[in-house]
Amino acid sequence: MMDSYQVDGGIKSKKASGKAAKEKIARRIKERTDIHGIGEASSTRISRSGGGVNLLNANYEITSEKFVRSLHKCIANILCDLYGSIYVRKNYRELLYFVQNGGDVRPWSYAVSYPAPFIRPLISEPRVVNRCLIKINNKSHEIISFIHTSGIWIVGSSPHLLNPNLIGKISDSIITELASQKEHISKKPMTGFFGFEWNKEKRSTIGKLKFLWVVKEIEGKPNDDFLYLLTRCKVCGQINPTGIVLPREIIYHGNVNNAISYSKNTWNHYIMDDLVKLGFRIERWGDKNLKKYIDQGISIPIENEVKKMRISNCKINCIGCNNLIKFSSDDCFI
Ligand SMILES: [Zn+2]
Repeated sequence: MMDSYQVDGGIKSKKASGKAAKEKIARRIKERTDIHGIGEASSTRISRSGGGVNLLNANYEITSEKFVRSLHKCIANILCDLYGSIYVRKNYRELLYFVQNGGDVRPWSYAVSYPAPFIRPLISEPRVVNRCLIKINNKSHEIISFIHTSGIWIVGSSPHLLNPNLIGKISDSIITELASQKEHISKKPMTGFFGFEWNKEKRSTIGKLKFLWVVKEIEGKPNDDFLYLLTRCKVCGQINPTGIVLPREIIYHGNVNNAISYSKNTWNHYIMDDLVKLGFRIERWGDKNLKKYIDQGISIPIENEVKKMRISNCKINCIGCNNLIKFSSDDCFI
């Protein structure tokens, strides 16, 4: 988002003069060429030189409370413009409470269609493209989509509103809506600018605009006795235990010098005893190094790689979105 903001030439800021102006220009050039993420995107780096973009650890599934609250603040502002703040205060209390006070991010999911990294339509002011009114028990809920250089965002006014089916329908109606607008953003269809897929193997996208549904994950509780065999739901991104568990002594047995590493997750972690089982002489390590090693993802001898297990055509329901996940050992990790 920050990168999009920087590359959008349509965004103008207040004019400054003299020394302040010089400093401002220098700062903006620096920001434009070198962006460092914060919070959960702290390892993200985006650098630009000329027409080239270099993305390092770019994170497209941001669920930090600050970010999700900001997105929902946009929706609250749009609703205030439409209905006036008195009406919104009365009818959208849950939304306002979340924006002002925060809380559990999980029910407040969103969907986003990311722009292609190299070509972007310049849309400086976020523009509402679609609204979807839902009545449940006489109470109105809205799902609003807005378009900006940084993406097309779908955000709901109440918790638990979004689901893949609805996102697909909204994606279709956004395409129709954009095509029927008098003032076109571009002659090219929006599918030419948006719908960037960053990790096709891990996640599936929804609709022609390839929306990514971003839901905060349910965290796991590691078990000291075994490791969970895990698989990912491609619809919501949730890591799911498969129901199969792996005894630690078996999984660590073998040649540790030829190892495979798995990404860190909340379901599996090292316990001190593991390092001994893996043959490390931990008495020589400092507490800091030990903690650092334990906090990272699990590494095991490559001969025990879980993708080599004989598991095929298994099914579970996602603990996050209830989607039926079909998996084979190739879809598994620990
Ligand atoms: Zn799911």
